[in-house]
Amino acid sequence: MPRPGAMQGEILGTVLRRKTATIRYPFQEAVRPERLRGNIEHDLEKCTGCGLCSRECPATAIEMVESTKTKTQKKPQFRFDRCIWCGTCEAVCPKKAITMTGKFELAAFTLKDDHLFVVSEDPEPTEQTKE
Ligand code: SF4
Ligand code: SF4
Repeated sequence: MPRPGAMQGEILGTVLRRKTATIRYPFQEAVRPERLRGNIEHDLEKCTGCGLCSRECPATAIEMVESTKTKTQKKPQFRFDRCIWCGTCEAVCPKKAITMTGKFELAAFTLKDDHLFVVSEDPEPTEQTKE
């Protein structure tokens, strides 16, 4: 029977030789799954303002707000304090205007933080559109 001290040394040696299972995040870049559903990006150029994304969102995280760009004069605003990252909006958008990116760092100090509310900017009015 091996001495208890010798066995402990053997175990310690095995543990120290083992590759680490964790990384030094945030000092090292996090390993992200290829199909991670992260931060949502919205392309107002493609959007028609149909509102389907808002109607289908199970978390009522998409509010339709005023827009000068789309046919219906509406565009989606995404609320990340409500979003459950299900991907439904991306799947149902008939114009492929919604993309779930691999960005996942969305921590905020308060619910008023701007990055919790994503909405595409309307284009600046030109001389033609002002008329
Ligand atoms: S993002 Fe897509 S589903 Fe949502 S309003 Fe625009 S076109 Fe419709
Ligand atoms: S990912 Fe799901 S919960 Fe989040 S905005 Fe889209 S439909 Fe709503």
